[in-house]
Amino acid sequence: MSNPALFSLKGRRALITGASRGIGFTLAQGLGAFGADIILNGRQAAALETAQAKLEAEGITTRTSVFDVTDQDQVEAGIAAIEQEGPIDILINNAGIQFRSPLDQFPRHEWDRLISTNLSSVFFVAQAVSRYMIPRNRGKIVNICSVQSELARPGIAPYAATKGAVKMLTKGMATDWARHGLQINGLAPGYFETEMNAALVANQDFSTWLCQRTPAARWGKSDELIGAAVFLSSDASSFVNGHILTVDGGLTASV
Ligand code: NAP
Repeated sequence: MSNPALFSLKGRRALITGASRGIGFTLAQGLGAFGADIILNGRQAAALETAQAKLEAEGITTRTSVFDVTDQDQVEAGIAAIEQEGPIDILINNAGIQFRSPLDQFPRHEWDRLISTNLSSVFFVAQAVSRYMIPRNRGKIVNICSVQSELARPGIAPYAATKGAVKMLTKGMATDWARHGLQINGLAPGYFETEMNAALVANQDFSTWLCQRTPAARWGKSDELIGAAVFLSSDASSFVNGHILTVDGGLTASV
């Protein structure tokens, strides 16, 4: 195989959860640019249709699949409907939320929401997709982790707990499923300017601290995640399994 073909996603179908905006949408653009057909997931049909129109304007074959990743019945029905039209070759488990509060005041329902959206969803969607990938003896799963898979910060202990667990779930999936021809890896973004981080981006003190703390001395731009996502979704990573690829401007390399 020639080198450029290693990274080609032509003819592959990629399902990206939480892809109506933010990192998920950018990864859809990136994988689409490398040839993949895209299936955008989220909970709001209208937002997904707007995102679909943008991708199609870029020449990317796109469909939408509306389901709530925290609802296992919806997940299984959604995956079955996609698979009826064609195989899911690549799954990016990206949907996720954040909630900030002092830990001693952290509301129980927000804890539950974080666990179900950031962690249980990864299990539900990957398990449903694996049941189609395993008999085909091939498939790529990329779980979106975080620098908080490794490092805590004040006010977001529950989020860090979910992302640490996603890291270990990724390693566990690789341990169970690599023998079936699947590659399961994690992609861990540092701090990126997205809607989820709008409050932090607007906070001048935080931004100044972050730029001093990060060796690259700036926020990340979402499209800087594309190269890592394409690598983990393509034949170029055919013997990479259970790895967490960090894209953080050096943040976790340095104290
Ligand atoms: P975002 O801009 O808030 O987008 C989140 C996406 O997830 C939206 O499309 C949202 O659509 C969807 N979503 C939320 N709950 C859902 C559910 N229950 N079912 C289906 N879709 C759901 O977030 P982001 O910043 O791009 O973050 C994406 C991922 O990257 C998350 O896992 C996050 O933890 C991770 N991450 C982000 C950063 C960063 O700097 N932004 C850093 C490290 C890791 P609907 O609300 O319409 O359903």
